[in-house]
Amino acid sequence: MSKLYGKSKREIAELLRSKDIHPTAQRIEMAWCLLSRPQHLSADEIRLMLNQEYEQVSQATVYNNLKLFAKKGVVQELIVSSDRIYYDSNPNPHHHFLDLDTGKIEDIPNCALQISQMNINACIEDVSVIVKGRRKQLDLEQVHP
Ligand SMILES: [Zn+2]
Repeated sequence: MSKLYGKSKREIAELLRSKDIHPTAQRIEMAWCLLSRPQHLSADEIRLMLNQEYEQVSQATVYNNLKLFAKKGVVQELIVSSDRIYYDSNPNPHHHFLDLDTGKIEDIPNCALQISQMNINACIEDVSVIVKGRRKQLDLEQVHP
């Protein structure tokens, strides 16, 4: 199996082709940025990353390509709320922790969460949980009384 992150641009082009996506230069750049490491990026963040180093890419182009990537399983779409959508470079099933103080999103391994008491009469294909919370501050007085 090829590595998940840090693929070369040639490998990215092959990945896109294997997902039935025509590998245009722009799409290769986008996927290369996204898949460089485990991360959760908004469409705006991806557009800013692209525009820093390459030609100006329109918001519509970025948005359309991200939708295509998500549909074809290159990235996962993570909908935190209607105005906060992220693109996740980890294609494997997993859950998330959203730190409400920093806005940072972290992965929670799939095995860390068990969902057993659901009474849903359906064939469940995917479960994605977003845990929202605030990190507990380390109380120094308790550590050093
Ligand atoms: Zn994730």
